[in-house]
Formats: sequence, C-alpha cells, structure tokens
Amino acid sequence: MAPPNDSPTDHSQLAAATRLVTLGRPLRAEGAPVGPPIQLTSTFVGAGPIPDPHGHPGYGRPDNETVGLLESVLASLEGTADRPATATVFSSGMAAISAVLSDLPTGARVLSAHSAYNTTLELLTDLAARGRIELIRQDVSDTQACREALLSRAPVDLVWLESPTNPLLDIADIAAISSAAHQVGATVVVDNTFATALIQQPLTLGADVVVYSVTKFLSGHSDVLLGAVLTADDAVAQDISRHRRVHGAIAGPFEAWLALRGLRTLDVRLHRQQETAQRLAQWLDGHRAVRLVRYPGLPAHPGHETARRQMRGFGAMLAADLDADARTAEQAVRACRLWVPATSLGGVESLIERRRRIASEAEAVPEALLRFSVGIEAADDLIADLDAAFSVLD
Ligand SMILES: *Cc1c(COP(=O)(O)O)cnc(C)c1O
Repeated sequence: MAPPNDSPTDHSQLAAATRLVTLGRPLRAEGAPVGPPIQLTSTFVGAGPIPDPHGHPGYGRPDNETVGLLESVLASLEGTADRPATATVFSSGMAAISAVLSDLPTGARVLSAHSAYNTTLELLTDLAARGRIELIRQDVSDTQACREALLSRAPVDLVWLESPTNPLLDIADIAAISSAAHQVGATVVVDNTFATALIQQPLTLGADVVVYSVTKFLSGHSDVLLGAVLTADDAVAQDISRHRRVHGAIAGPFEAWLALRGLRTLDVRLHRQQETAQRLAQWLDGHRAVRLVRYPGLPAHPGHETARRQMRGFGAMLAADLDADARTAEQAVRACRLWVPATSLGGVESLIERRRRIASEAEAVPEALLRFSVGIEAADDLIADLDAAFSVLD
C-alpha cells in the first residue's frame, strides 16, 4: 500500500539516513499528527467488492495501514530509482523465510550454506526430509565451489545465502554467486539480517529476494518480533503478498509501529554499533584466551576483501572461539555484568551467547564460540566488562 505523503520533498533524492526519518508518516497537513497513529482494527466499513477497486483494505489480514507505513520505509532502503522494491512484512523473520520457501514447487533443488541461522537450516532440513525439496549444502564462502555446484550439476532452483552468516560470520560473494545462479535460472535469496540495507544491498549486487528478521537491527530495541521479504520483481512480490493473505502471518499493527519507531534511529545506532564492534574485534584479537576472532572488519578474516567490496562497514556482529571448554566459556558469559547473556541480536543492549547451548545449532559451530551483538553502550565500558569476565578463562 502506498503511504500518503504530500511533503514537498522528492524522497528518492534523499540519503537513506534521511528517508528513515521522513518516510512512513501521515499526510503533512495543518493540524495533522507528526507521528503515525496505530491502526487498531480488524475490519473496515464497506459493502463493495474485496479487493476494493479504490485500494481500501476491507479486512485486516490482507493489509493494515501501520504495517504499510513500515513496508514503505523498508522498501525505500532496499530499492533503487530504476528498480523500486516492494516490502511485505510478516509476523516474524521465520514467517517471512517460510513464505519464500513454501512457495517453491515440490522437488525444487535448493543450495544453502553449511552454517546459517539455525532455524532456517532446521526448516530447510524438514522440507528435505518430507521430500518437498532437495537440499544441497555448500560452504558459501567458497565462491568457486558454489559456482561448480551450480554449473556442473542438475539445475538448482533456489540459492539461499546469508552474508555475513549467523553465527560464523562467513562472507559469501553475493554478486559472483548470483551471476552463476542466474546462468542456470536459479533465484537468489539473501538473508540480510546481520548487515541491513544500510550496509549491504543484495538486490543491487544481483540477488532477487531479500529477507529480514526485522526483530533484530531494523527494530533495534529487543521488544518486537517481525520479518520482511523484499524484492524488485513484481510477480514475486504478488506471490509473497498472496502467501501472507492465505497463510495469515501478517504482523500486528502495534508491532509494526514499534519497528517503524525503531527504524528512525537505525543509521545512528548502526554506525555506533559497528564502530564499537571493530574496536572489540581488535581487543579480542589480542586476548590470550581467544583462539580466533570472526569479524569481517579484521584484515585477517578470509572474507575481508569481499566484504570491503560489497558492504559499507562490517556490521555489529562478531564471534570468538575461546581457548576453553564449553563449561568455562559459559562461566565467562555468566560473569559479565553489562553484556546481557541472551540470544537474539541487533538491539541497543549488548548481548553475549555461547551458541552451542542451543540444541539445534549447527555442528560446524565450535563448542566454545561466543557470539557478540554489540549495542550502543560506551565501548570502553563494554571492553572493561569483558576483560573482567574473561578472568575466569585464566
Ligand atoms: C533471528 C534470525 C532469523 C529469524 O527471525 P525471527 O524474527 O526470530 O523469526 C532469521 N535469520 C537470521 C539471520 C536471524 O538472525
């Protein structure tokens, strides 16, 4: 749904940081509210046909104005002037991911990373076990191996990428893999949750569909669960919107409003967060109890050059393999005072977690790997807190 906006500015000429603030607002008119009200209704007055020829929603499952405002801001971050994107917001990241995957034809061949967000892998494995898809697992940081898997075997229908991957922070060369995928007619989907559109734009790099857990950086305050699918392909966008209407996983208006409010500050949050992440990565790199720091901003990271090419900055997620057993690594987590021991990521508060505590986490993830989601606290405080907590590793 197009947002009402008669502000005098042509938004497409504005920087993303500005659009985050200006878009998704009520019509600018004397006496109008500056912030959007939350449209709390399940249904709408009307006796005419649904869908309504004038674009009125008719009912709350197909569409909601507050959800539409959030979609308009997300779409503006992802699209370009000549290839505008459409956003469809879902009730969680997994609902968005599931919408993309469940529209695949039976028997579709899907190439995905060895290690990626654990619940995405769980869903892919489930679909394969039930004979819905054929799953090919690949190390997505190995571009040559991906090219060979795509070009030398039976055609793949869908390539599922994350970059950086969760939680190993591997980097996939999105442009190179997309171009090989398109040679065999495959659709490329990128889960861009870790980077967000401010840091990386998969559609511009050649991908066809972008998915988000809006729960994370986009909302930014660990108070909401939401997801989104974005694409510049109108036919795909229509399928996804229809999927949401039929399967029913639309977001609640209050959640959409919270995300919209969070989005206003995405640019400032992310800049601060990734600046601290870089400092933290360097500090961890010099720590005696750390075996390996996984952060694409470190020149020694195997994906550093690719990340420099396809990202603006390196994001605010990092991981470290400790020289410790799982129990001791968990003691270090519990010893933190400022870092919150919790799963999830992308909020203003810094979170720390031993990933393998999650039963469904991939075996490729080391037992003593800690994942860090860097918040907006002062970097010195965050480092001092870890320094004290890591004394249990001596
Ligand atoms: C959290 C996450 C998801 C799932 O999103 P939910 O909003 O929790 O359903 C998907 N992909 C990545 C990379 C994530 O971090």
